[in-house]
Amino acid sequence: MTDPRLTRRGSLVRLGGFLATAVGAAGLKIETSEGAGPAAVASGAVSCVLTPEQTEGPYYIANEAVRRNITEGRPGLPLLLRAFVVNASTCKPIKAAAVDIWHADAGGIYSGFGSGAGNRTFMRGLQRTNAKGLALFRTVYPGWYQGRTVHIHVKVHLGGNVVHTGQIYFPDAVTDAVYRNQPYSSRPNRDVRNAADSIFRNGGSKSLVTVKKNGAGVYVATIMMGVHRS
Ligand code: FE
Repeated sequence: MTDPRLTRRGSLVRLGGFLATAVGAAGLKIETSEGAGPAAVASGAVSCVLTPEQTEGPYYIANEAVRRNITEGRPGLPLLLRAFVVNASTCKPIKAAAVDIWHADAGGIYSGFGSGAGNRTFMRGLQRTNAKGLALFRTVYPGWYQGRTVHIHVKVHLGGNVVHTGQIYFPDAVTDAVYRNQPYSSRPNRDVRNAADSIFRNGGSKSLVTVKKNGAGVYVATIMMGVHRS
């Protein structure tokens, strides 16, 4: 008998809230009263989320610099992105994965495109995960652009293969609070929130960050990405 919850697709259903809570409470350890690890996964006690694939979109530039701070001094409220990569089958952290992110600046501009065409690098960078599966980026809270809710694009590379292409989203209430500040507030209100975004609607709720503002006024956003190794 196969418990449907143990199938890959089934694992999509059981979710992020649990993982986010586990991350917040214990760093990266997935713990339940019944223990963690592959045995717990097999028993159904623990289930990691296979993070949904989402379109790369038109603004990807390959082979960006390996760097933590991707802002190049551009304005915006400071954002620390904590991106964890875990094996969706075992819940174990994946070390040395290359996490590749890109997003619009506070003005909604992508480097390399449109009015950002003169610079192909701002708000783009790569980091490798550590033994806890963690890749850290220092950036600013992304601005919005026409037709999309706020997001950060991400790719995860393992051993030269892309094992995940996705988009990372923010709770609307957090974005509302951020956008009351300059430089965001000098722009018109965004035109699309999460629920109305056609890409978000296709699994985006499984790629929502949990956000806290720390004592230094930095928005600390945490995301858990469950991937398959190939
Ligand atoms: Fe985008």
